[in-house]
Amino acid sequence: MIVMKFGGTSVANYEAISRTVSIVHSKLAEKPIVVVSALSKVTDLLYKIADNAAEGNRAAADEKLEELRLRHAGLASELLAGDSELCAEAVGKVNEICGTLASFVGAVCSLGELTDRSKAKIISHGEWLSSTIICYAMNHRGIKTGFIDARKMIVTSPEYMKGEPVIEEIVKRVPEEVSKAYQGADAVITQGFIASTVKGEPAVLGRGGSDYSASLIGMAADASRIEIWTDVDGVRTADPRRVANTRNISKISFEEAAEMAHFGAKVLHPLTIEPAVMKNIPVYVLNSMKPEGEGTAILQSDQIEDGVKSVSFKENILLLNIFSTKMINVSGFLNKVFGIFAENKVSVDLISTSEANISLTVDGSQNLDSVVRELSEFAEVDVDNDKSQVSIIGKNIVNLRGLLRQTMASLKDCNIYMISQGASFVNISFVVDRASLTEVVQEVHRYLFESCGNDREA
Ligand code: ADP
Ligand code: ASP
Ligand code: MG
Repeated sequence: MIVMKFGGTSVANYEAISRTVSIVHSKLAEKPIVVVSALSKVTDLLYKIADNAAEGNRAAADEKLEELRLRHAGLASELLAGDSELCAEAVGKVNEICGTLASFVGAVCSLGELTDRSKAKIISHGEWLSSTIICYAMNHRGIKTGFIDARKMIVTSPEYMKGEPVIEEIVKRVPEEVSKAYQGADAVITQGFIASTVKGEPAVLGRGGSDYSASLIGMAADASRIEIWTDVDGVRTADPRRVANTRNISKISFEEAAEMAHFGAKVLHPLTIEPAVMKNIPVYVLNSMKPEGEGTAILQSDQIEDGVKSVSFKENILLLNIFSTKMINVSGFLNKVFGIFAENKVSVDLISTSEANISLTVDGSQNLDSVVRELSEFAEVDVDNDKSQVSIIGKNIVNLRGLLRQTMASLKDCNIYMISQGASFVNISFVVDRASLTEVVQEVHRYLFESCGNDREA
């Protein structure tokens, strides 16, 4: 059994879905569990619909709901052309799903209040619609496909917008649902991203969460491989949208991939690797527009060579400087500070401390209001939101003599506000001005992968 996850661009339109169905067709012998994202940009649209509902703006929500319905109904008609009965059935299903969503959105509009639970319900419709249409398309093209409701398999905590998976439930439910759906079928399909809480309430796994769904399902189904099909040739030396001459990486370790994703590389959801590691399942990142390509294999560390693999970055971070003279010679100060972060569920990326000062970075999407308020009771706190974070990732890079010095030397005209090396053997990170991020990432990439990085001291 294998898991094949197709992201938004791999299911964006008629051509993309046709390619995706052919890729699945070529792997039927390996019993695929197909996991799909919403069509490209649909989740963004659903977020906007949820915002309109929260504002009570029914007209704006209705306009977008109609756009959503038309896009999916049109796509279903295109994919099922030639079979009028099946086509009518699929379009009917799309209309029904969109109708139910519209009623729900209407109710939220009337209330003028949107809970996270209702928001999760609204945004889960993207994957529900895409999987419905693609299931029809697969059957239409001769792949007998069983449909699985991911909410019956992926169970999470009641953090509706970013549920934490309940692994014991998932490992029980996935094999049951998969074997039920596989009866008489050549393949099965399910939704990425969407889940339900233990009590059966709607939840999602956070933006980009379909990768995580795929990996959880692969782990629970004891898959021999997890394939992440996307719009790039594999994991690259940097984000190709930011850097021109990136190269594909043929293989990297679980740790390197997890660190890259955690430190900003959007190609994988940051938690994708965790479930795969539990059962040592290789993860492949592949390009659905070039299915013949080799992609990137993400494997156990002992199969991977030491050295720099990639540069990733987080553009939107917050740099906090916490200053207090009470910190000097007082044990337990750090404990108190990090206790506040833990209580408020704010996770910290980089930390550096000196006698009376702690500097740290957190992801810019996190709300720091309570943290700052509580810290301000006993320390001076300064929050800087015009910085970004750059990370160099590679197995055992902290052992590469001169790497940090030479990389910093290549950035002669930039201010570096914080450096973190050594906390992990695979990551060296530093903080720069947001305005110079692109230049820094390009310069570091040029140094490490395009020019003199080759004669770095080893
Ligand atoms: P999907 O919709 O298939 O999940 P995403 O947009 O989430 O696709 O992820 C793919 C994107 O990740 C690529 O288009 C690329 O811009 C970005 N990306 C960021 N860092 C890297 C990297 N190191 N290697 C490859 N892609 C990267
Ligand atoms: N559709 C969701 C999102 O856009 C999940 C995913 O695509 O992975 O965030
Ligand atoms: Mg993604």
